Amino acid sequence: MENQHEQLASLDQKHFLHPTTSIKQQQATGPDFIFTKGKGVRLTDIKGRTVIDGMSSLWNVNIGHGREEIAQTAYEQMKTLGYSSCFATFSNEPAIQLAAKLAEIAPGNLSATFFTSGGSESNDTAYKLARHYWMLKGQPKRKKIISRSQSYHGVAVGATSATGLKPFRDFTNSLAPDFCYVDHFSPEALRQMIEREGPETVAAYIAEPVQGAGGLHIAPDGYFKEIRSICDEYGILFITDEVITGFGRTGTYFGVDHYGVAPDMMCFAKGVSSGYAQLGGVMISENMHNDFKQLSEGTLLHGYTYSGHPTACAVALKNLEILERENLINNARVMGEEMLKGFQKIQSLRSIVGDVRGLGLMGAVEIVKNKETKERFAEPFAPKVVAEAAKRGLICRSVVFDGQDTLVFAPPLVINSEEMNELISILNDAIEAVETGIP
Ligand code: PLP
Repeated sequence: MENQHEQLASLDQKHFLHPTTSIKQQQATGPDFIFTKGKGVRLTDIKGRTVIDGMSSLWNVNIGHGREEIAQTAYEQMKTLGYSSCFATFSNEPAIQLAAKLAEIAPGNLSATFFTSGGSESNDTAYKLARHYWMLKGQPKRKKIISRSQSYHGVAVGATSATGLKPFRDFTNSLAPDFCYVDHFSPEALRQMIEREGPETVAAYIAEPVQGAGGLHIAPDGYFKEIRSICDEYGILFITDEVITGFGRTGTYFGVDHYGVAPDMMCFAKGVSSGYAQLGGVMISENMHNDFKQLSEGTLLHGYTYSGHPTACAVALKNLEILERENLINNARVMGEEMLKGFQKIQSLRSIVGDVRGLGLMGAVEIVKNKETKERFAEPFAPKVVAEAAKRGLICRSVVFDGQDTLVFAPPLVINSEEMNELISILNDAIEAVETGIP
């Protein structure tokens, strides 16, 4: 197996351009883990090492790995109708049923879905639909999209342009126009920005209910209510990006459910299919849908080959059935409380742990030089903890943007107490190992 790892690693280095990966590091070390299977909260690699997937891979494998029921559903669907188009006058049953199911579970009166293959496409779709909507409503000047300064919305050109995290925007030297970034937890800053830009030029405001990739920032109580009322006051569409927070991740069906507000549009992906198929989408409110029905002429000239992919939609329907049948949203809430308690215990034991926070099964642990002053180390230590944790059998992620030094966690929603204790224990050991090595 060691030999097989080396052979594959060498092909990987030669031919595989990895997403969000340091090319230098890939060339120097090759992939660390070449995964071959997964079951529940665990992944196993080609060398036979098993690790807890403390991130549900990319915040997406909500129902856990290795679900035969899903494989069976995909097999049956592929055998009968693997793919057909949803353009023009064509449709298919899984896409119709999934759109109807989403209307049942989504916040507020979100009632119609445009399907995509993932979160970035969903974001680009949302911006285009929002702008097209204002064109239909006779307000074509409304084209600006306001997003938050530490947001992450994906890597398509529109999604990159909306992403507040600067390193993602600086990766390329030409972005889409008409995007503005506002301070992330200040409703007042949003109001000022709208006034400054001119309300008649703003199409929409977009936010993640809990910021994930930007370092796991949880909005203060009342924040989204104020945002909702500012958007209403200026007639601006409120879009939530539930790509990470949707489908039970935070202990409610959708992240925004914690805040007692509903958006006009919602982007989703990841947990809708728990990663078993590539699927995402944008939902729009019934009011918007009615306006579209009345005002739209000709063709809605936006559509992906895989919009409404029957196999992906069948997989998503089964995924949602499992989520509900096994009460996994409630489990996310209960296990999320255990995870946070575990973090607090580690905080009391380890000298380099500062703030800890969580909402459902999204959690963060900050590394600091000084617990009292919250001063950070000159060089971040979270990546070292990630490496120590991986050696000990736990996968987690570090966030070091904007001087942050944070570990983030999002284990599968199927995690049980025993597995949670193991996660916490490995994390504590990994932090201790790093702490001990600090001169
Ligand atoms: N929006 C949010 C909030 C995300 O976290 C992500 C990915 O992590 C995306 C959009 C982009 O999704 P995708 O990688 O499926 O294109």
